Amino acid sequence: MNTPDYTTEEFTATLPVSNCITRYRDAERIGGYCRSCPQYGRSWGCPPFDFDVTKYLEHYSTALIVATRIRPLKAGLPLSEARALIRPERQRLERHLLDMEQRYGGRSFAYAGSCLYCPEGTCTRPSGAACRHPEWVRPSLEACGFDLGPMVEELFGFGLQWGREGRLPEYLTLVCGFFHNLPANKVVWNG
Ligand code: SF4
Repeated sequence: MNTPDYTTEEFTATLPVSNCITRYRDAERIGGYCRSCPQYGRSWGCPPFDFDVTKYLEHYSTALIVATRIRPLKAGLPLSEARALIRPERQRLERHLLDMEQRYGGRSFAYAGSCLYCPEGTCTRPSGAACRHPEWVRPSLEACGFDLGPMVEELFGFGLQWGREGRLPEYLTLVCGFFHNLPANKVVWNG
């Protein structure tokens, strides 16, 4: 897909959930990163969760992992441009993940970072009130303890990149998942 500002490429891989957990989940270490994040416990899409994450994952047999690589057309953009590049892709992908749940009956894993569904700074979680849109909000793979760096390298053959000296890297990568109990060939990603 092309827009005036960036291009995207999408990569998919399917593997058993048990294998995905063994290879890429390190709940203690990744959970430690979450606990040191200022967003910890401040959005209903972030940990800590009121359900058992291991049981939540193991309810499904097959994991479809999707990496979306976003490449700005201009090199060396300031880091402040990241949101403008990421947000429309998150909106597109999260819509598609929720459609997949309707179609296939599985569960999606969306993206870390601020929730898309209420104006910034208005999440109900800090006040303890219920989420306004639980039908849309899904945890990310990171929030469930997955280490996305090795996952992307091993499944798709490229590394995650980070900004340096206030500039965006060559590309940004979004990683999401769709866990389900259907034969792998019955679930088609055409986001
Ligand atoms: S939908 Fe609103 S209330 Fe729910 S997690 Fe997102 S920002 Fe918070």
